[in-house]
Amino acid sequence: MKRMLLLSWFGILFFTLTSANGQETSNFPVRGFCISAPSTERVEPFIQFVHDILAPARVNTLVLRVDYNYAYTSHPELRNESTLTYSQVKSIVQACRQEGIRIIPQINLLGHQSWHSSSEKLLEVYPQFDETPEVAFPEHYVWPNADGLYCKSYCPLHPEVHAVVFDLVDEILDVFEADAFHAGMDEVFYLGEEQCPRCNGMDPAELFAGEVRRIDQHLSGLGKELWIWGDRLIDGKLTGLGMWEASMNNTARAIDLIPKDVIICDWHYEQAVPTAAYFASKGLRVITCPWREPTVAESQVQMTQSFREQSPEIMKDRFLGMMQTVWGGVEGFYAEMQNDKPRTDDQGRSDVLTFRTLQKIW
Ligand SMILES: [Zn+2]
Repeated sequence: MKRMLLLSWFGILFFTLTSANGQETSNFPVRGFCISAPSTERVEPFIQFVHDILAPARVNTLVLRVDYNYAYTSHPELRNESTLTYSQVKSIVQACRQEGIRIIPQINLLGHQSWHSSSEKLLEVYPQFDETPEVAFPEHYVWPNADGLYCKSYCPLHPEVHAVVFDLVDEILDVFEADAFHAGMDEVFYLGEEQCPRCNGMDPAELFAGEVRRIDQHLSGLGKELWIWGDRLIDGKLTGLGMWEASMNNTARAIDLIPKDVIICDWHYEQAVPTAAYFASKGLRVITCPWREPTVAESQVQMTQSFREQSPEIMKDRFLGMMQTVWGGVEGFYAEMQNDKPRTDDQGRSDVLTFRTLQKIW
């Protein structure tokens, strides 16, 4: 026991760094930030943001939500109306390389194929991929609604869907010169639906895991890593976490059915829920993700630190670190970063204050 104590003391001595302001900081392999890719008009300020905000905060990983905001040449029909160009992406890549920041582009696969009353590009152009073709978009979207419509999903068993989405994945990896791809896959509510002739009656956990395996296999073949959100792999009822940050639609058993090389982004915004330990104990590498509650982020850093220090050798390196997720645009975030007293919402929350907390301690 004493030896263990000594070892962990050495661990603390040798593996903690000190930040510029003299506070002890972590040795997390991942200090990440996740935000939407900028619009084509806002690339210059975004590059400034990388240099002025991300780099000084020691961010080393940037998950960029790109989706259909790129001028795809493999499927021009899937471009949003206005998109990032090839050369604009290259300028972002260049800025990140200069700062030692790894970029991981994201396209939402499986779920999040619509928002409120409109389809994203994939289902707009290829409505045959829709898992729930009988669910019509309401004129005025409200939640909850009779159809349980949050976001549409594509059908993971449609024989043609992967040929299309993998073209986009390949192209985005290529232009971003990335070694990993984030496939989203959070909050997938429509899965194995009765109205789908292929998925009807199938086990949602099998369907979810099957889709993860398929994407992972494609990426492994290219020597690339797959990142996903973790919520579908946690049982929402047993944990009390509910239907958003965990699963109430029978997908949780997929945790035992997916490949161990998939990286899990484990988001919890209200409390520092210790589910990272659950993922790591299943052999999966995991990144803990806060959003806009500084105190939650602080607890998550301490928890991650503690998991890394207190776990057996084989397990501790699975706790890769932290990634803040920001769900507003970069423009607002950047502007608020200039304020000494950034705006908070009516519950006192602020993604900017959370970022400032993280940059001091991670
Ligand atoms: Zn289906």
